[in-house]
Amino acid sequence: MKFKIRTGFGYDVHQLQEGLDFWLGGIKIPHTHGALGHSDADVLTHVICDALLGAANMRDIGFHFSDKDPQYKGIDSKILLKEVVHLLSREGYEIGNIDSTICLQEPKVNPHIPDMKACLAKVMGIPEHDISIKATTTEHLGFVGKKEGVAAFATVLIYKQ
Ligand SMILES: [Zn+2]
Repeated sequence: MKFKIRTGFGYDVHQLQEGLDFWLGGIKIPHTHGALGHSDADVLTHVICDALLGAANMRDIGFHFSDKDPQYKGIDSKILLKEVVHLLSREGYEIGNIDSTICLQEPKVNPHIPDMKACLAKVMGIPEHDISIKATTTEHLGFVGKKEGVAAFATVLIYKQ
């Protein structure tokens, strides 16, 4: 029997604007600013979706859930992630592990990481141990450092028997 292992990568950016809800890693972060987007603009959930889709060579999040489609306006990105996991499982893929990094100048993300891990693990139906979330500032450099936006990266490993 052939055991197939694949890796995937995701990158995403959203603008930050005052007065918006700030959804990150499936949870709402208390902050003066939030991310702007067609959906709830959850950059971490989006990069995990993209990394999973990329690993399976199934295009990207915009291909499956168009930002022109009114049905996705303001949608909870956890719904999109659940659908992505479903798309992969239909192809026989299971998630090995996920590693991710959020790039944000403020607020501090670290206190929220356990809640994000618990939330996303539940959405994907995987153990919390299989999802790593890290956070970094960019030392006040670039659009992240100037608090104009939030970025994230993720890599994943998927496999099928
Ligand atoms: Zn996004």
